[in-house]
Amino acid sequence: MSSTDLIIVISGPGGVGKGTIVDALMLRDPSLWLSKSWTTRERRPGESADAYHFTSAAEFEQRASENGFLEWTEFLGNYYGTPTPGSEVTGSDVVLEIEVDGARQVKERYPEAVLIFVLPPSREEQERRLRERGDPGDKVMARLKKAELEEPVGRSLADHVVVNDDLEQTISELMNIIESERAR
Ligand code: 5GP
Repeated sequence: MSSTDLIIVISGPGGVGKGTIVDALMLRDPSLWLSKSWTTRERRPGESADAYHFTSAAEFEQRASENGFLEWTEFLGNYYGTPTPGSEVTGSDVVLEIEVDGARQVKERYPEAVLIFVLPPSREEQERRLRERGDPGDKVMARLKKAELEEPVGRSLADHVVVNDDLEQTISELMNIIESERAR
C-alpha cells in the first residue's frame, strides 16, 4: 500500500448484504483489492472455501501474537482478522469487509480510512436475509441481537451511512462515495 491509496472499510450488521455489495464492487472496479480475512468460524454449508482463510484458534492466536493482523476481534465466539496487507495487494485501493470493532481499530490506526456503514432497510428484512443464508435459528437470533448493539457504534464511527434497500442503488452510492474520496 502506498500512502496515497484508500483504505475503504465496509461495515454493517450481519444480514445487511455486505458480501453481495462487496462482490459487485469488485466486479465493477478493478482497482479495488479485497482483503481476505482469517476466521476460526466453521464454513457454512454451501459457502465458498475461498470466502475466508478458515483456520484454527491456535494458528490464529499464533499469527496475532506475531502482529500479523491489521486488526482482529472476537465476534460471537470466533476470531476474525485482517492479515496485514503485503506484496499480494494487486489493486490500488484496499477494501475491508469487517464488523464494527475491527472498523474502530482500523480508524484508530489509519484515521484517513473511509468507513462506510451499511444498514438494512428494516429488521424484518435483515432477519429474512439471515435465515435465507442457512444459519441455524439460535445463530440468527444471536446475530440480530449483536446487530442492535453494533448499529449505534457503527453510525458514530462512520464517514458515510448507506441503507441497502435496492442493491443496484446501494452499489452506485458506494461507487460515488469511493470516486469522491479518490478526488479529495
Ligand atoms: P460471518 O460469520 O457472517 O462471515 O462474519 C461475521 C462478522 O465478521 C461480519 O460482520 C463480517 O463483516 C465480520 N468480519 C469478517 N472478516 C472480518 C475481519 O477480518 N475482521 C473483523 N473485525 N471482522 C470481520
